[in-house]
Amino acid sequence: MAEPLLSASGIETGYGKVQVLWGAGIEVAERQSVVLLGANGAGKTTLLKVLLGLLPAWGGTVRLAGEDITALRTDHRVRRGLSYMSEIGVFTGLSIAENIRIGGQFVDSATLRRRTEELFEIFPDLAGRRSTLAGALSGGQRKMLGIAKALAAGPRVLVMDEPSAGLSPLFVSQVIAVLGKFRGTGLSLLIAEQNVAFLDLADRVFTLEGGRVGFSGTVEELNADDALHRAYFGLA
Ligand code: ATP
Repeated sequence: MAEPLLSASGIETGYGKVQVLWGAGIEVAERQSVVLLGANGAGKTTLLKVLLGLLPAWGGTVRLAGEDITALRTDHRVRRGLSYMSEIGVFTGLSIAENIRIGGQFVDSATLRRRTEELFEIFPDLAGRRSTLAGALSGGQRKMLGIAKALAAGPRVLVMDEPSAGLSPLFVSQVIAVLGKFRGTGLSLLIAEQNVAFLDLADRVFTLEGGRVGFSGTVEELNADDALHRAYFGLA
């Protein structure tokens, strides 16, 4: 079988002396949408930060497109095709246009100009408000801008930390609908979530419990396991 586009294996890390991840691993194949499901404090953000190089791994390996990137700086990972949307997602003191420009900071200016116009077609609510501050947007619009900002980098894998955070159910479904447009388009998605509504997007699911990956498989396989189904569908 071909090597996954993005993978982490045996990841150990933590904060100071406190270990949070205990041999965690994840795989994202080309064009695949993966949901990393876990409760508050399970270690989802911590694992995503290791993938991006925002937090060093004490042990284990991160690979992207056949290359060991474990020791690579974050900006080099972004240049190689990883893009990250944090839980906050945008710079609230900067405008819509400035946020997108920052997302595309490693892209040449002609490509970024073209891509920005494409993004404004996907996110028409943002298009007429380019100089509006991100902090003045509603929670849902801010999330859309966060996605646009991350896409401005032209990633191969879009890594997202809890896109549902702080959103009402209506906005959650709008975010899911937008992300659904990118499924199978050549972009891979890795979404850390505790909201099971995002499983609608998932080709594959990993569960994280206490810093360890418990289950990995399809949504159907997750649903077929009564204990897992109860554990995760009780959370949303
Ligand atoms: P959430 O849904 O709350 O974001 P999560 O699954 O993303 O949860 P993490 O944020 O990765 O979980 O946190 C995992 C553990 O690491 C928690 O016990 C948390 O208290 C701890 N932790 C996170 N950040 C730090 C930090 N900067 N310093 C110390 N401990 C931290």
